[in-house]
Amino acid sequence: MASLEQLVDWLTRFRDLVNEKQAYLTELDSAIGDADHGSNMARGMNAVIDKIGSPATIDELFKTVGMTLVTSVGGASGPLYGTFFLRFGTTAGAVTSLDDAELSAALRAGLSGVLARGKAEVGDKTMLDALVPALDAWDAADSSPWDAAFAAASTGRDATEPLVARKGRASYLGDRSAGHLDPGATSTALLFEALAGALA
Ligand code: ADP
Ligand code: MG
Repeated sequence: MASLEQLVDWLTRFRDLVNEKQAYLTELDSAIGDADHGSNMARGMNAVIDKIGSPATIDELFKTVGMTLVTSVGGASGPLYGTFFLRFGTTAGAVTSLDDAELSAALRAGLSGVLARGKAEVGDKTMLDALVPALDAWDAADSSPWDAAFAAASTGRDATEPLVARKGRASYLGDRSAGHLDPGATSTALLFEALAGALA
């Protein structure tokens, strides 16, 4: 069960975590990308929290979130996270709370958006390596699915280290992309850390 207020808290906690870990996310992206993932996520989520105002419904909230990320973040992550939140909102609908099954359905719709937009799959060393196991763990959990999702997202993030990137900028490195955590999978684990914190 998640209220509109808890979902705003989710976003606020995510904003706080990406600011706290901004230098680390950028360090990860400097190893296999262009050293901007931390600044992209911090800039995007700071803009989101500035923009959300007092939305009446969950779809209204996430429309603002998604549009703000798509327009304020230049990197791959802006459109991907933006699409995730836009789909999350349209599936949630014009309501002010979601039960656990509705929340799962909204998160799954967000995942579908990332898959459609990025055309990556699990094992490509992207944010999907945290997102997909998180949602699978959510659906398999008997209680507190957000805790199971956070744990699985973290395990999925760690599992990106040995992988060779097959999508995004890191794929230009070929085999040299192995031996580093994926920045986007790392920020996605923060997304689930924030959700677990907001719903606890
Ligand atoms: P950019 O790569 O444009 O500099 P960022 O550094 O902000 O953008 O984000 C990089 C992250 O985006 C990667 O670590 C990866 O997790 C994610 N990513 C890149 N391409 C894709 C894709 N096609 N599908 C899913 N995630 C992707
Ligand atoms: Mg980058």
